[in-house]
Amino acid sequence: MLEGKVAVITGSTSGIGLNIAIKLAEAGASIMLNGFGDPVEITQLCTSLEQTYKVQVKYFGIDLAQATGPQTLLTYTQQTLGRIDILVNNAGIQYVAPIESFPADKWETILALNLSAAFYGIQAALPLMKEQKWGRIINIASAHGLVASAFKSAYVAAKHGLLGLTKTVALETASENITCNAICPGWVLTPLVERQIQERAQQQGITYEQASRDLLSEKQPSQRFVSPEEIGDLAVFLCGPGGNSMTGAALSVDGGWTAQ
Ligand code: NAD
Repeated sequence: MLEGKVAVITGSTSGIGLNIAIKLAEAGASIMLNGFGDPVEITQLCTSLEQTYKVQVKYFGIDLAQATGPQTLLTYTQQTLGRIDILVNNAGIQYVAPIESFPADKWETILALNLSAAFYGIQAALPLMKEQKWGRIINIASAHGLVASAFKSAYVAAKHGLLGLTKTVALETASENITCNAICPGWVLTPLVERQIQERAQQQGITYEQASRDLLSEKQPSQRFVSPEEIGDLAVFLCGPGGNSMTGAALSVDGGWTAQ
């Protein structure tokens, strides 16, 4: 379905981003991976995706919390893969602390990566997408783009901002065959969430399994984690013909979290 298209997925060496990359490759798109990780494992990942899906897979591990990172990533993608059709702004980090003790540098980095990187990436990608008269932009927001939780000020502010950015980009591109949507996952069991479960278990002196059950029962009525593959499937749908008229949407995949 996506043969001949090129997709850039930020933060795709792990978790949700990796699964989106796999699903887009499976659908036929060539892939630019980004994110941190062990260089040997990343090289193996590129080779394995190329062999399995018969698409080109490149990697560029630039730090997207730096303002020039997204533009550099997109320029490199165009140079190596020839075009940019799909941009998935997925790279994100979390930090949990009360506002009074929230470190200023964590605030700045979370805003830079979880929000500003999407802005800079979209700014760099749009001229190419407009020239091609086709583009798909997917911002990975969160249930925390729609509702808040205590102690996550920077993350919640950035994800709410990302939904605002999504709507604005959708309006500015609506007549140009370009769509921009946000996916708002609930709890997905990735390293980002595993760290929060471990911290919770430690703080409360309970097991990892108990902390994991508590986390779900607090927010997610389905009582099960969303799988990263489910997010990947939605990303593929948004890039396919069924997604042609969907733009400016905040799509919840959260087991009922924000229905409450
Ligand atoms: P993860 O920690 O598994 O993956 C994060 C990815 O971002 C990794 O590839 C990492 O190397 C990369 N990354 C981190 N800092 C970076 C930087 N400065 N520059 C470039 N890449 C960087 O996390 P995840 O859970 O897969 O999260 C992916 C996205 O999904 C994030 O935006 C997160 O906010 C969002 N999200 C996650 C959940 C969840 O429950 N896991 C829920 C809602 C939204």
